[in-house]
Amino acid sequence: MKNYLKLLVLVSLMTVACKQNQETSEPSMAEDISVEENDSFKFWVWTGANKEKTDEDYTAEFKKYAASGIEAVLINTNTDPELLAHITPLAKAEGLEVHAWIMAMNRPGDSVALQHPDWYTVSRDGKSCFDTRPYVDYYQWLCPTRKESREHVLSLVEGLSKVEGISTVHLDYIRFCDIFLPIGLLPKYDLEQNVELPEFDFCYCDVCVDTFEKLHHKNPREMEHPELDIEWKQFRLNQIRAVVNDAYKIVHENGKQLSAAVFPYPEMADHMVRQRWDKWDIDMVLPMIYHNFYNEEIDWIGYATKQGVTDLKDKDTELHTGVFVPSLTPEELKQAILEAKNNGAKGVSFFDGGALKPEHLEVIKNMEL
Ligand SMILES: [Zn+2]
Repeated sequence: MKNYLKLLVLVSLMTVACKQNQETSEPSMAEDISVEENDSFKFWVWTGANKEKTDEDYTAEFKKYAASGIEAVLINTNTDPELLAHITPLAKAEGLEVHAWIMAMNRPGDSVALQHPDWYTVSRDGKSCFDTRPYVDYYQWLCPTRKESREHVLSLVEGLSKVEGISTVHLDYIRFCDIFLPIGLLPKYDLEQNVELPEFDFCYCDVCVDTFEKLHHKNPREMEHPELDIEWKQFRLNQIRAVVNDAYKIVHENGKQLSAAVFPYPEMADHMVRQRWDKWDIDMVLPMIYHNFYNEEIDWIGYATKQGVTDLKDKDTELHTGVFVPSLTPEELKQAILEAKNNGAKGVSFFDGGALKPEHLEVIKNMEL
């Protein structure tokens, strides 16, 4: 891949045994240090696949991205490994990395999960996502604690991770339902959210409550203010983390890496959706720093990027900033990319491919980073 420099440095530190005194010499030591040096700033784009698209359609789309300097595509195949296996060589032929996008905990219309109503998260007011969908029709969240539902999600991750040629499995919706919606979206739903509302607070299913009670000897269903109980929130953060960490092991066993779409920065993700991504075992995070969802300005993209980069400084997790293309003029897109780059991001991900107009692609192509 152009602009991509992969450097393997093998450093061997050998304690050479002294010939005159072999019996007392230290055993020889060898240390391999792999240094992967990527001096380019990576551009990603999200796109959807479907069975109606022809190979020529895909190739034309991938050529367009590659010609603009985009190096990675996140592909939604509706968790179909066969479709992904078909498309991956087409993308790779154009020099693109392929990342297998999956809706992890939110699984609307999942034909296997739908046979098990008890797999779905339950709200504080006792309603299941199986038949009561919060906010929108496509919100059907699975419980991260129940053995069967988490294993189902992990089996889907495993299926994608076995597809030859992909770089990462990319978890999206790896969290709970939004307890708070982004402030810029509230008018759309004619909602006010000044406190945690019971109908958006999950998961109060039997398995979560029993597991928590065994650990902490208290029952969130009986609390007057469960929103004030720190262990109860931490329990749910930990249940999501446990799914991610298991996914990490699975994809690495299959020779791939793990990436995820996450909320803008860790404390914000914790507050809004019970997601604390700076504590995960993960190779790359793509925080969705969609400033317009939060009524923020372009410089907030830099602020949020820096929050995440700082929180990850002691970890091997790369951060690539996600931007929401429909809200950006070409000039603003340029500013957004610079905000991300100047605040430590390793790349920028564009949501989505369909929103990238020729003038956006021109900006991306001409960025000198
Ligand atoms: Zn549950």
